[in-house]
Amino acid sequence: TAPHQVVLITGANKGIGLAAAEQFAALDMTVLIGARNRQRGEDAADAVREAGGAAHAVTLDVTDPVTIKDAAAWIEQRFDHLDVLVNNAGITGSGQVSPQDAVDQIPSGVDLDMVRQVFETNVFGVIAVTNAMLPLLRRSSAARIVNLSSGAASLNITSNPYGPLTGLPPSAAYAPSKSALNALTVQYANELRKDGILVNAVSPGYVATDINNHSGYLTPAQGAAVVVSLATLGPDGPTGGFFSDDGPVPW
Ligand code: NDP
Repeated sequence: TAPHQVVLITGANKGIGLAAAEQFAALDMTVLIGARNRQRGEDAADAVREAGGAAHAVTLDVTDPVTIKDAAAWIEQRFDHLDVLVNNAGITGSGQVSPQDAVDQIPSGVDLDMVRQVFETNVFGVIAVTNAMLPLLRRSSAARIVNLSSGAASLNITSNPYGPLTGLPPSAAYAPSKSALNALTVQYANELRKDGILVNAVSPGYVATDINNHSGYLTPAQGAAVVVSLATLGPDGPTGGFFSDDGPVPW
């Protein structure tokens, strides 16, 4: 029998990441629950195992190079390779509030340290984790990378199919961090195309989680569906794209 596919999800202790973990586990994949807090990661891994899945907690703070290095070393020692990386960990920078209330992100008045923090997690953290995991992903016969972007990343917001986003205040932190993540997604896809590693960004829709004080109208499971479909693409699947459940999202 084929060995189980191994998937690492950053920030998988709750929200969309945890829902994706549950769906990967239901597909018989071995799920590595990345969590910056050890106990929260163990609790989530326990929950996935109790539902019958194969899950392990991996301590991983995407802004902490030591935990990233240790996580890669542990995965190598335990599984020798990685099939799927989901860069899911993310913050808004505005605390646990609805993006509609993110007035502290209005460019003219934004706190630059907050912008730095958001980019540290949502952009630089993705580069750090991806580069640490790439040697392991290269040992997979069909590696996939999925980056959790947002409809708010679209540069031309009026072309975005998501109505509610037109009501967002201007943002100098969260939205540009996801635009930068989209740009990075294209660059990684271009580099890794020759290796058969497919790299895509996804917009999960507006999902009720802690990040927006549960103001979203989709469940985490609904938001995770597009993550799982891009993580399990066949060899002829797209790379360097930006997708929601409804298809391509405008850049
Ligand atoms: P949650 O706040 O529920 O989950 C965010 C996860 O990221 C948590 O597990 C959190 O860990 C983790 N995290 C934050 N910072 C770090 C870090 N430095 N290192 C490791 N983990 C970290 O939010 P969602 O599930 O909604 O968000 C998941 C992703 O989806 C994010 O990238 C978000 O931007 C994106 N997204 C969400 C949308 C929505 O409507 N919910 C819409 C569009 C995109 P901890 O528990 O320790 O804080």
